[in-house]
Amino acid sequence: MRTHYCGSVTESLIDDTVTLCGWVDRRRDHGGVIFLDMRDREGIVQVVFDPDTEEAFALADKVRSEYVLKITGRVRARDGATVNPAMATGKIEVLGKALELLSSAATPPFPLDAHHSVGEDVRLKYRYMDLRRPDMQKNLMMRARITSSVRRYLDEHGFLDIETPILTRATPEGARDYLVPSRTHAGSFFALPQSPQLFKQLLMVSGFDRYYQIARCFRDEDLRADRQPEFTQIDIETSFLEELDIMSLTEGMVRTLFKEQLDVELGEFSQMSWHEAMERYGSDKPDLRIPLELVSIDDLMASVDFKVFSGPAQDEAGRVAALKVSGGASLSRKEIDDYTKYVSIYGAKGLAWIKVNQLSAGVEGLQSPILKFMPDAVVEQLMTRLGAVDGDIIFFGADKRSVVNEALGALRLRVAEDLGLVQAGWAPLWVVDFPMFEDDGKGGLTPLHHPFTAPNCDVDALRADPAAALSRAYDMVLNGTEVGGGSIRIHQQDMQQAVFDILGIDAEESIEKFGFLLDALKYGAPPHGGLAFGLDRLVMLMVGGQSIRDVIAFPKTQSAACVMTDAPGQVAEQQLRDLSIRLRQSAVSAPESQ
Ligand code: ASP
Repeated sequence: MRTHYCGSVTESLIDDTVTLCGWVDRRRDHGGVIFLDMRDREGIVQVVFDPDTEEAFALADKVRSEYVLKITGRVRARDGATVNPAMATGKIEVLGKALELLSSAATPPFPLDAHHSVGEDVRLKYRYMDLRRPDMQKNLMMRARITSSVRRYLDEHGFLDIETPILTRATPEGARDYLVPSRTHAGSFFALPQSPQLFKQLLMVSGFDRYYQIARCFRDEDLRADRQPEFTQIDIETSFLEELDIMSLTEGMVRTLFKEQLDVELGEFSQMSWHEAMERYGSDKPDLRIPLELVSIDDLMASVDFKVFSGPAQDEAGRVAALKVSGGASLSRKEIDDYTKYVSIYGAKGLAWIKVNQLSAGVEGLQSPILKFMPDAVVEQLMTRLGAVDGDIIFFGADKRSVVNEALGALRLRVAEDLGLVQAGWAPLWVVDFPMFEDDGKGGLTPLHHPFTAPNCDVDALRADPAAALSRAYDMVLNGTEVGGGSIRIHQQDMQQAVFDILGIDAEESIEKFGFLLDALKYGAPPHGGLAFGLDRLVMLMVGGQSIRDVIAFPKTQSAACVMTDAPGQVAEQQLRDLSIRLRQSAVSAPESQ
């Protein structure tokens, strides 16, 4: 139908006749001349109709925003004064000769230009309109280029794209499953995969050696800005490679991606142990663009006459840490109160602080409600350790180690954002040496990754002190976001059994849930490992988006619903009967709670 995209009409086409198809972005009537800004996925071009072309002019006079038109015309240079440097096609315009109306349009539910901010509910209800906006078009086109670049890289490195089932059994990744009732096995359910983890391991047992899949995963968990019930992973598994090989291969993939798509050189990624990340940044996904660090001061505070500090300082499981913020002495009481409220979300019972007004004046030059509890010598040592200077504020966390890390880790991000301390650019790193397990809060242990992650010790050492064991896992972190994570897997049955035992999964349960995996490990499983990248997060970072919903064509709302198709929806009684399902009364009478 057309010869060119609207957005690709350039000066090289001057004097040529072109045929364009697209949407009317804007129509303007300038005293006898009609201007139509015509839009398609490649951009916008200005088309002019004058009364000489009578028929086309009459039609152009009638069209409205979002009508779909086919236009034939001649490309001409714009007069000097009318050149629009803000437009990619701003040096030319098309003199319209013929116009065909392909489709009229009702008034759009919201203006599609970038200047109007529109509520997300409306955007999602009319997503097909929202997706016409140039920003959304750019995001999804970038996403397509990213997956294409990833596929190219992995194909070139000998990876095979193999699909795994969507109707399957639960794969434990720590979330709730989405279940699908089986009609043919009344009373039984499939689970949608939380990840292809077990299948990709089985593909290694089958000898495929290098697998990848751009895989949809499903997790029924409470949603946040960077979570969706269904999301996409770049899922990878390899055999006979050690963690450093896998890390270097996939780091190469991300480096290539950034170079190809953003012309950014990421350079070599640094590595940091989980322990160091928690100590210095209070997070296992530290944002290294922020020049603020947590500093341990347990030794200084162990003997002060202030129980709030000395208690945790003397406790093995406690921590006292300081976070120095340059320029923070100017924070108001109200701002500090707000931060105190903020850290309470993470369990902190308060937020002690010292403002450094004039260091040369000694303790007199400091301002804080807690100074009276601390000997001058301790304060002096504290200032030296932190390298404090005039204008700083120092925040303190004193509690259980996990509370201090979470609270000060979150405060570090928040304050940096508020005070404009986040440096521009990209800060990638690998976090390694994770603990195998963490406390499940009920006296047991739970895997920090998933239960198929290999420890870096033998079975006996693992059984002897599981809480101290480290895993062979690695996470790729970019600007404070975990973009990927994986591990070397357990490939021996006795080790897998030991992990199940430690997790309290008894023989019966392990056979019921993972019997096929334990069986497969008997038949010659190669040493293997891999990882998965969160494609949505990666694309979000690369387009500078705020939410993964901005890079997913048809995302769900915060309450895991699709307001456009009205899913999830009710089903006919007969469908439920076929599935041998009867709804509880409360669910029948309260469909909105679905
Ligand atoms: N299956 C893991 C996940 O979804 C990634 C991996 O270990 O490869 O997080």
